[in-house]
Amino acid sequence: MPVHSRKLSFTTPILVSFAGILIGFVLIAVFITLTQRKDFVEDYHKINSNFTHNLAVNYTESILRENDHILGRAVTFFSRNDQLGNMVNVDREKGLQVLMQLQNLMPNVSAISLADSQGKYLRAPEVLASDSSKLFDPRIRPWFVGQAQASTLSRYTSPYTDYFTHHPTITIYRPVITPEGRLKGTLAFHLDLTAMGYTLRQMVSPVQGEFFVVERDGKVVLHPDTSALFKPYVSEELMAKMTSGEGHTYDRKTGYWYYYYAFTNPDWLVIYRVSNTTLTDITRHETNIVSWGFALAAIVIILFGLYLRHASRTVLMNIINAIKTGEVNQAPRLEAMLSKAILKNKERERDYVRQATVDALTGCKNRRAFDSDIAALMKEHQPFALALVDIDNFKSINDTWGHLSGDIVLRNVAREGIQVMQPQHISVYRYGGEEFAVVFPAEHLETAFGLLEEWRLQVAERTWREEALHVTFSAGLGEWHFEPLEQLIGSVDEALYKAKQQGKNRILLTSTHS
Ligand code: GH3
Ligand code: MG
Ligand code: MG
Repeated sequence: MPVHSRKLSFTTPILVSFAGILIGFVLIAVFITLTQRKDFVEDYHKINSNFTHNLAVNYTESILRENDHILGRAVTFFSRNDQLGNMVNVDREKGLQVLMQLQNLMPNVSAISLADSQGKYLRAPEVLASDSSKLFDPRIRPWFVGQAQASTLSRYTSPYTDYFTHHPTITIYRPVITPEGRLKGTLAFHLDLTAMGYTLRQMVSPVQGEFFVVERDGKVVLHPDTSALFKPYVSEELMAKMTSGEGHTYDRKTGYWYYYYAFTNPDWLVIYRVSNTTLTDITRHETNIVSWGFALAAIVIILFGLYLRHASRTVLMNIINAIKTGEVNQAPRLEAMLSKAILKNKERERDYVRQATVDALTGCKNRRAFDSDIAALMKEHQPFALALVDIDNFKSINDTWGHLSGDIVLRNVAREGIQVMQPQHISVYRYGGEEFAVVFPAEHLETAFGLLEEWRLQVAERTWREEALHVTFSAGLGEWHFEPLEQLIGSVDEALYKAKQQGKNRILLTSTHS
């Protein structure tokens, strides 16, 4: 038989349950953390896109539109009454004044040029006549060249270096066309990109990143750091991906997110570039607390699992112990029921034991108990005396009064014997049909004889319901002298036999004593 059965194991189901709970919990935790992280990333995409949108619409576009608006109105002014020709060729002082007034309206415009179609020009602020200014030919400047494709719309040049200031510049220009449709010249506002870049520096981005404006070819037009101007910041391949008006795209090669907003005139893109590492760092940081919370909860689950395993073992041990000893301390409710069950179990067990050793009819110990008690005494070499008692003429009692009465006689004789012997802690056994055995451990023979005599007299003097009934018994008594049991029983039986022969209702000692 196996020493322990799996079916009795508490720990396995407990551990399996807790492992299940733990696995379920971990799955939920991982799922929540991942979803949360995804949500965070989405949120940051939204925040960054909004920043790009604001940067484009509220900053860049508003500057461009404002200049465009003023440019439109100024061009209308110069196209009337040959104002342009007058100012460039006749009243240059007045022309300069008008241009300066215009420039004061626009903080981002660093200079204004007004040229007629022949290339005669006026620049405000004025450039002093020098060797280089004499060589200046507006007809090859990008804003002048552009008037060949004249339309009434404003146009932007690509960034170039200004002839006089040597600053990176773009020019917004418009042809001056008379109401009659004649091209008179060009009005051009020069925007100093360095100065515009400075104002970009005042912008605060939501996360660490770089924001700038590029042309369609990917070269920088505006950047808080002016040294970055004209540099190719965005590859052509990536530019090709930025097709919609605004959005974001990821560049696997560099690990950067590009949030963009595209203008059409000029063909520029406002770009906000954020490293993916920055984003993941932020989201990790934001979800870390939750992850730690989950980890802590997992540890608590494990600890409770271990505790339950330990506690269940202890309870199981206590139950086993209680079943063994039948001793249960006061315990409430469920435990009380358990305790009761254990006590009942113990009682039942005692009953079984008693039933196994007690004779049902007489209440004496039975033959089995006799055998084992005698064997124990002999094994331990404990001296004892043995008496065999046999009811006289029992057959005729049965025959005369019936078997039932015989049983009553048997029971009463036994009770008398038990009443005499029990106070002395001496057991009476039912040895056979109407025969009893008495074992006197370590008793002097005289005492044994005295007790037997007391029993005999009580039986003999007793009155019975059946008036004519008289019951007596005979007995043999002998001490054990370490001889085998059969020999002892033989000699005691012989004494009993003699007692019967000598007229019954008497007790005789074995021959060794007589
Ligand atoms: P003696 O004085 O020589 O012992 O005579 P006796 O009649 O007692 O002789 P014997 O020992 O031969 O008879 C015993 C009888 O006891 C035989 C049996 O029918 C009866 N007997 C044995 N066990 C029981 C019992 O449990 N109940 C009843 N009523 N009778 C029993
Ligand atoms: Mg007999
Ligand atoms: Mg008899």
